[in-house]
Amino acid sequence: MKFCPEFNNVLTFFPDKIRSCCVLGNLGPFYYDNYDGNIKNFDFEYLKTKKKEIYEKLLNEDFKDLPCQNCFYLKDKTGEDTFNEKFSLIYLNSWTQCNCGCFYCDRMEFSKGKITKRKEKSEYYDLLPIIKGLYKHNLLDTENLRVVFHGGDFSVLKEADSIVKTFLKYGVKKIDFSSNNIIFQPIVQKLLAKKKASLNMSLDCGCRETYKLIKRIDKFNDVIKNLRKYVKASKSDNPEINVKYIILKNVNDNENEIKSFIKKMKEIGITRVSLHLEHKYANEIFANKNKIPIHYKNLISLFFELCNENNLWFDTPDEVMHYIMTNQ
Ligand code: SF4
Ligand code: SF4
Repeated sequence: MKFCPEFNNVLTFFPDKIRSCCVLGNLGPFYYDNYDGNIKNFDFEYLKTKKKEIYEKLLNEDFKDLPCQNCFYLKDKTGEDTFNEKFSLIYLNSWTQCNCGCFYCDRMEFSKGKITKRKEKSEYYDLLPIIKGLYKHNLLDTENLRVVFHGGDFSVLKEADSIVKTFLKYGVKKIDFSSNNIIFQPIVQKLLAKKKASLNMSLDCGCRETYKLIKRIDKFNDVIKNLRKYVKASKSDNPEINVKYIILKNVNDNENEIKSFIKKMKEIGITRVSLHLEHKYANEIFANKNKIPIHYKNLISLFFELCNENNLWFDTPDEVMHYIMTNQ
């Protein structure tokens, strides 16, 4: 008998799909494939029934229609694992608008690289009526509720503030924001100060010129200014702000850029950083395990050493990164 805690807890909203989990590159079972965005077509009773049905399938190891068979999260069921109709972790990922244009961004597939200049409604569907419906139908585990903003950038999503306020009203314990931090968000500042938020961003560089190349917009100084304000608001030696460096071939894969990134982080008081490979390149490397450029291993080692020297907490969540560090 199998059990998946992620399945039990997670509900993820994508542009036209609503699924269970979205973890470490896994995409879980569907609740809605091709959701048309009409709230009248969102059936909360169906969601309950479907969840129970998938739970039973996992339990009975019936993987015929599920993408779960070889998933790392699936485990043998113990007596402590019980089905919960309510969701405690909500991923909001249903819009693609963003006010910058990272050339490596997945949303390009949807947005054709368009840079959003002002707040807009999601091009797919409004989340707010669904969130309210989940609450009304007793489908939110308000004792343990956590919300993660993914999507494009939440700062240009018209209903973002109302979504945050609604979740706060429902007693959300924490909101994890992903943002490019081009626009300063007072709500993020306030929640960081109350230890009710975390902030995650990809900066990928340590200077204005490289930023422009990657993001296709000249906003490096604004981002740094906003990060400083968030660090200050956090009133902590270890603010819950993670800044990522995604290594991009022939753009920022050099020692100078990594050194200036670390120097900048130290200077503004960021204590958590992470290193990633651009995922298409990572998949290439992973598919061909013998061809990992030694250049990359050296850059990763440099990053690691500089973090140690500067007391920065360093994370390598990436499977490929781990492989590089341990196999060459
Ligand atoms: S087993 Fe894996 S893919 Fe399936 S719901 Fe759990 S985490 Fe998602
Ligand atoms: S900030 Fe994020 S959503 Fe916006 S273009 Fe860059 S990667 Fe895409």
